[in-house]
Amino acid sequence: MTALVLRGCHVVTMDAGRAEYPSGYVATDGNRIAAVGAGPVPADLADARVIDASGCVATPGLVNTHHHLYQWATRGRALDATLFQWLTELYPVWARIDEQIVRDAATAALAWLARTGCTTSTDHHYVFPRGGGDVLGATVAASRDVGLRFHPTRGSMDLGASSGGLPPDEVVEDIDTILAATEQAIVSFHDPQPGSMLRMGVAPCSPFSVTGDLMRAAAGLARDMGVQLHTHIAETADEVEFCAERFGCTPVEYLDSLSWLGGDVWLAHAVHLDDAAIARLAATGTGIAHCPSSNARLGAGICRTADLLAAGVPVGLGVDGAASNEGSSLLGEVREAVLMARAVGGPEGLTVRGSLELATLGGARLIGRADEIGSLEAGKLADIALWRLDGMAHADIADPVAALVLGARPPLELLIVNGETVVEPSPPAPLQPRPGPGCRCAMTMCAPCCRSSSSVAPAL
Ligand SMILES: [Zn+2]
Repeated sequence: MTALVLRGCHVVTMDAGRAEYPSGYVATDGNRIAAVGAGPVPADLADARVIDASGCVATPGLVNTHHHLYQWATRGRALDATLFQWLTELYPVWARIDEQIVRDAATAALAWLARTGCTTSTDHHYVFPRGGGDVLGATVAASRDVGLRFHPTRGSMDLGASSGGLPPDEVVEDIDTILAATEQAIVSFHDPQPGSMLRMGVAPCSPFSVTGDLMRAAAGLARDMGVQLHTHIAETADEVEFCAERFGCTPVEYLDSLSWLGGDVWLAHAVHLDDAAIARLAATGTGIAHCPSSNARLGAGICRTADLLAAGVPVGLGVDGAASNEGSSLLGEVREAVLMARAVGGPEGLTVRGSLELATLGGARLIGRADEIGSLEAGKLADIALWRLDGMAHADIADPVAALVLGARPPLELLIVNGETVVEPSPPAPLQPRPGPGCRCAMTMCAPCCRSSSSVAPAL
């Protein structure tokens, strides 16, 4: 890693004052940010590798707070289904995944995320087929191959259909197996040190696939070992009904009864919340991973983002698994979050900068890393996204943050994770010869044709 300076770009710092520099610089040294500021590059940074970033906007790397990487292998199924119908169709397919499938799917999913500005991703892996090999280890290996900062969680299901749960019995595990494997995963992979590239979490799947006994034991294990807790909650009206019938309370009241609210917990979705639930989430500091595209894809509803933020609930953004968000663009979620908040709450439902904050600082706070990532400030980790905005799609949008969030998805010029370049521009494709005079093939890739005297159309 060498010292690097991006100069001449619009810098969105997300620092305490939310400073932006219309023509500024960001300098890195090793895996840390060395300096951020306005104007020309200071003389003491002149020895660094300087990149002309004019025409671009630099933002903190985006933080993805909910995903199921293995689902990249099962995109485009159950197209018009509710969550429970979608799960019922997909569980038997997921029951056949193995270590190699997960390795390939996770590599593709993380590489795609990187191309959409993501520098840190969580993962929630809860399907462990018997004989499928080390599927959790496969996601860790994929994260190292791609180079993203990674917060995987060891998920689990122990409430099969024969016990009143939704998943078929073939995809659930027993509680002792789950707890032993979860503890081993933390011992094997979790790195609590500053600058860590991998921190584990503990994540039983959902109220309709997990017993209360597992939820309590998982919370105890996570707190004993100093890692965070994650699960799905209040995603659909069906789940609210399930909790009312089975537990006699709302989903958030159910979590509360299991000691599953707190600053060490972040929850995916939280679409169907009443006012009391929002107040309780705020009082306990429990975070929410808002997944607007997935919620819309499954017709689940729209998260009460504005109400959560007004109450002081920490909120981040997530793409969710690719089986319910085939697009899997984290920058796309920034746009969707704005549009959906406004669709239900009017034009003041969420600002473009507010949505970008959810994907940066908000996500960092959810996973306990706000002191290290989520903003461009000297001393923080060098996780940076550089977006090109001087093309036709954006060049005449005066506000670069509006261009980034509301405009077409811009080219990612550069992605730096922990000081290392993970995405850089592809070299321009070589120009293809155009059809020459008298050419009969009328195709742009017709060099063999146009160079030959017989002028025969090439086989494709
Ligand atoms: Zn999910």
